Amino acid sequence: MCQKHSEIAQNPSHFEGSTDELKTSNEIQSYYTEYIKGMKFFDPHIHMTSRTTDDYTALIDAGVVAIIEPAFWLGQPRTGLSSFKDYFSSLVGWERFRSSQFGIKHYCTIGLNSREANNEALAEEVMEILPVFIYKEGVVGVGEIGFDDQTPAEEKYYRLQLELAKEANIPVQVHTPHRDKKKGTELSISIALEHALDPGMVIIDHNNEETVEGVLEKGFWAAFTIYPFTKMGNERMVEIVKKYGSERIMVNSAADWGISDPLAVPKTAALMKIKGISDEDIRLVTYQNAITAFAQSGQINVADFETPMIIDQSLKFNGNTVLRGGQIPRIEKDSIIIS
Ligand SMILES: [Zn+2]
Repeated sequence: MCQKHSEIAQNPSHFEGSTDELKTSNEIQSYYTEYIKGMKFFDPHIHMTSRTTDDYTALIDAGVVAIIEPAFWLGQPRTGLSSFKDYFSSLVGWERFRSSQFGIKHYCTIGLNSREANNEALAEEVMEILPVFIYKEGVVGVGEIGFDDQTPAEEKYYRLQLELAKEANIPVQVHTPHRDKKKGTELSISIALEHALDPGMVIIDHNNEETVEGVLEKGFWAAFTIYPFTKMGNERMVEIVKKYGSERIMVNSAADWGISDPLAVPKTAALMKIKGISDEDIRLVTYQNAITAFAQSGQINVADFETPMIIDQSLKFNGNTVLRGGQIPRIEKDSIIIS
């Protein structure tokens, strides 16, 4: 192993070294994958609507075979119910199809995000259409819901949506606030318990070292988002798995329209492997636990992604394809390219 590789091996998703190292990012990409050959990943939190087809290709090449796309905000407030409706429809429709065109099984969670819960007039309207969407095929939970600024309106719609999830008997994906996280996480947990939700049906997201113990102690699932450069880096994630083990812990990228890394899950797996975490623990936190938690929706059939999906880019969704003029569709059946 050359000097550069051994430095990179310290952390495959953080390029904190010289510009020279940054320039060799292609080399780094192919290098970290050596550690995760043959592994499969399930990213339970990624906003693919905001990502490119290159990302889809990179995900499947890195072994990410299935994903969950939680409903969230657009980076700016929506002005009416129609844009919520169209967004939810795309999560169960076009985006799901788009993902399949790259061989990745796509699931989603549907909910009113915490930020837009603060527009109460609109929130009321959104609550009315949620039952139309949460029973649709591929919807594995209510999410992502919870607190942002921890306002009374956020609490109101969090409670209402917990009731909705309880009634539908599907999991809940809880977004915890980035400001005043510990308080917001404890509040999210105590309200869920107050509404008599089974902690085994609730995935508390965006944990850190301060929140993980309380979440696990109360029997909830603890999800961790690996952000490049900031917050929960994957070095810290390795330490958490070393300390708390792999039970009820899962890793996600939460990649969206901001600076984020859609490959955070496979890269974290590579770092875990380098740092001596067992293959079984890696499998649990980067694949199996998310499946176990969200399969309680009755919507996940592992046979759909355990073996490579058949890719047929000649298929259309409402007359639309992922191809542009003159492009040749990629058609794979039993791994034979016949296009
Ligand atoms: Zn998110």
